[in-house]
Amino acid sequence: MTTIPAPAGKATPVVLPVPKAVLWLSITALLALGLYYFIGIDQGAVSVFGNDTHVHEFVHDARHFLGFPCH
Ligand SMILES: [Zn+2]
Repeated sequence: MTTIPAPAGKATPVVLPVPKAVLWLSITALLALGLYYFIGIDQGAVSVFGNDTHVHEFVHDARHFLGFPCH
């Protein structure tokens, strides 16, 4: 039976500059809030694309998971 030796030495730390981290976190938060708004606003009666319920039906289970009322 052979064993693979563990690599010696310390792990390499991830160095991330703070302004770059703040930028990426802000972009991610804005995109997440936009997606959350998009999922929440499409009620079927008040739809993003007029009188169409395709978006509502496509994100239906996600709406229930996030706690939006629908039925
Ligand atoms: Zn439902």
